Amino acid sequence: MRSHAQVVVIGGGVIGCSVIYHLTKLGWKDVVLIERSELTSGSTWHAAGGFHTLNADTNMAALQGYTIRLYRELEEITGQSCSLHHVGGLTLAETPERLDFLKSARAMHRHMGLDTELVTPDEIRKLSPITNTDGVLGALYDPLDGHLDPSGTTHAYARAAQMQGAEIVLRNRVIETNPCADGSWQVVTEQGTIIAEHLVNAAGLWAREVGAMAGVYLPLHPMEHQYFATDEIPQVMQRDTELPHVMDPAGESYLRQEGKGLVIGFYEQNCVPWGVDGTRWDFGHELLDENLDRIGDSMEFAFKRYPVLAEAGIKTIINGPFTFAPDGNPLVGPVPGLRNYWSACAVMAGFSQGGGVGLTLAEWMVEGEPSRDVFAMDVARFGDYCTPSYTRLKVTENYQRRFTVSYPNEELPAARPLDTTPAYGLWKQHNAVFGAAYGMEHVNYFARPGEEPYEIPSFRRSNAFDTIAEECRAVREGVGLNEVHNFGKYQVSGEGARAYLDRIMAGRIPVVGRISLNPMLSSKGRIIGDFTIACIRENLFQVAASFAAQAYHMRWFEQHLPAAGVKLENVSKDRIGFQIAGPKARELLARVTLADVSNSAFPFLSVREIDVGQCQAIVQRVSYTGDRGYEIYVPWHNQAALYHILIEAGKDLGLRPFGMRAMMSLRLDKSFGSWMREYKPDYTPLETGLDRFVDYNKPVDFIGKAAALAEREQGVSRQLCTFVVEAKDADVVAWEPIWHDGEVVGYVTSGGYSHCAQKSIAFGFLPVALVEEGRQVDIEILGEMIPARLYSTPLFDPKNEYLRA
Ligand SMILES: Cc1cc2nc3c(=O)[nH]c(=O)nc-3n(C[C@H](O)[C@H](O)[C@H](O)COP(=O)(O)OP(=O)(O)OC[C@H]3O[C@@H](n4cnc5c(N)ncnc54)[C@H](O)[C@@H]3O)c2cc1C
Repeated sequence: MRSHAQVVVIGGGVIGCSVIYHLTKLGWKDVVLIERSELTSGSTWHAAGGFHTLNADTNMAALQGYTIRLYRELEEITGQSCSLHHVGGLTLAETPERLDFLKSARAMHRHMGLDTELVTPDEIRKLSPITNTDGVLGALYDPLDGHLDPSGTTHAYARAAQMQGAEIVLRNRVIETNPCADGSWQVVTEQGTIIAEHLVNAAGLWAREVGAMAGVYLPLHPMEHQYFATDEIPQVMQRDTELPHVMDPAGESYLRQEGKGLVIGFYEQNCVPWGVDGTRWDFGHELLDENLDRIGDSMEFAFKRYPVLAEAGIKTIINGPFTFAPDGNPLVGPVPGLRNYWSACAVMAGFSQGGGVGLTLAEWMVEGEPSRDVFAMDVARFGDYCTPSYTRLKVTENYQRRFTVSYPNEELPAARPLDTTPAYGLWKQHNAVFGAAYGMEHVNYFARPGEEPYEIPSFRRSNAFDTIAEECRAVREGVGLNEVHNFGKYQVSGEGARAYLDRIMAGRIPVVGRISLNPMLSSKGRIIGDFTIACIRENLFQVAASFAAQAYHMRWFEQHLPAAGVKLENVSKDRIGFQIAGPKARELLARVTLADVSNSAFPFLSVREIDVGQCQAIVQRVSYTGDRGYEIYVPWHNQAALYHILIEAGKDLGLRPFGMRAMMSLRLDKSFGSWMREYKPDYTPLETGLDRFVDYNKPVDFIGKAAALAEREQGVSRQLCTFVVEAKDADVVAWEPIWHDGEVVGYVTSGGYSHCAQKSIAFGFLPVALVEEGRQVDIEILGEMIPARLYSTPLFDPKNEYLRA
């Protein structure tokens, strides 16, 4: 084995092979893959080989579409067959809710170029005569679905990579990975040591162990999974064409034809995490003991859905392990805290996602960033809160929910509560209904006294609708109180702090006492953060953005941190508190501080270090609700005291706690976008209106400046707009197609119901040529065309007069 390579990839499963194929395709030829045994020696060899495009995240679904279309290319390049069977696939709906879910998936597919369609029970029977459609309301049909030969496909990737210069070393276990001072990695293997400028962990079932060699925990866990293949079945043998796949969520099963028999697999509730204490190094081409009892109920259901199964003999039963991350999506990208160490693991559907994972990672490594937003599979979407036990519980939940309808307002219960603030217990006494993000509990809304604190999952307006309306009105008419713990907060200090922020942020860095809103751009000019930056003192800044993006943002901050002169601290959990918002917010603040909080002394977009009651606080005059408001930050241990100070002082002002649902409704009136909805790496400042915060003229060469200037020069083809929608009982969520003149011309980024304006609102992109005040479009919500009208003046306080007064 040679002693040096630009890239070493650990693992010769379908993912490692896809990574080396894509790296060499993008021009990096000095690539070595090291495999412990033979290719496909992990989960890959016993996969059922099915592939499909359905995914709740649109970019993930698009990457799955890319993967499936890639197989023909691989076959052509290599002559190696993948044994492709493009037989199409049906996902059955047995409840109106599931039908709604499939309708919204169908709608999303329209602007992704995926050609799915909804079919009736009659059409299902025509396509798949072995399916008993009793109780079935319809199905989503995807002509791209199918299956392949896992081993042939992995070898096709490998061969294509070798043809482009990659080297594959077999029967050679990696034993150690040690970081070198220059950022490269010393990779110690059974056959010797190799220095790698970049190291990729694609070790599948062993990704945890390989991660531990570099001192990191990758949040993934293997689960056992069973499927069985039948003997030949007369009804299948008689057919000229192959049967389509059928996903039957009610039976938690997937079914396809194999030869002249059938293959059926189950995602059972009674599932079993595997390798809780780790994956043995001597685990190889072996199967786990079958356990038909575990899938007994599912099999009984399957015999009713596919009566032919009841008479068929079972030929083989496969029980094998494969890995999942807590949300079921892969872990891809640069691993936070390590230099030149990349993750390509936790891929639970290697044959649907492997091409997309390989492409994404290769783009990231070769070009510096992926060509689209891949936060849904970014390894940095998880943080330190993901311990092995948390991961195991979440992975189990995810496995059990594989076929469960996901609702936009749903909060999943496993492994909760995990992180809470001191206010948690106080909120519980107020009948709070909680959600969680990045391991931290937050209040969604407060159920009425006597009501069960539970929001019923729905695609339509939920049981919480009226209560959220009351919370919104309380803010707009009086004063509301809401926690500020779920912002990611970073303290940047030191003599180089201002210069550092000037380089990584695209906007103006504020002077002492002031706040600025600041987009952060990638070098290609895409939005990778929308920050509120407060200059508390000279060389002391608080920088705040989404709580859920902490590891993502810290990775970027650390990557660009100068060697000296700047201290960067993540203070998200240490610095918490409350915001107060509404016309009486100033009066409330004045009651609890000796500081002058008049408009002239404490104007909009300023920050003060003042005492609030007996607590030392950092107070920022901003509010995401669009009201006159203040964010009051105190140390963690002062939060409960601050709560009582504000509640006591606000009694006769009508002070009312409100939750995230009300906040997300109030922001609609001001057309305030939000992170990962309107602002994300798929979009640019000019497309989203964030250009107003970009300081194109600042002398600093900030990251993304050249791209931002080029964009300003060339203009854009689409623009983020706000619409009033004539929705009746279901508001937009995201990704709904926008129609004009019978064509899909754009899509929704987010929206909802504005309780104060009493209007349904959508944000979304339109081609620039169509952007015009009053433009009429249709938005497809749950399969229905709903008229909508573009408007460009915010519904509330359009000139910011109240906000600034
Ligand atoms: C029963 C079953 C059915 C499935 N059905 C499907 C399906 O129908 N469709 C689908 O898309 N997916 C399916 N899957 C999932 C699919 O198998 C996985 O998504 C995929 O195989 C993951 O590939 P991988 O390359 O990430 O990992 P693996 O296949 O586990 O590969 C990891 C490789 O890394 C090597 N390695 C590990 N550590 C080291 C080391 N220290 N040094 C050198 N080499 C090392 C291993 O030997 C192994 O070859 C199924 C899985 C199972 C178990």
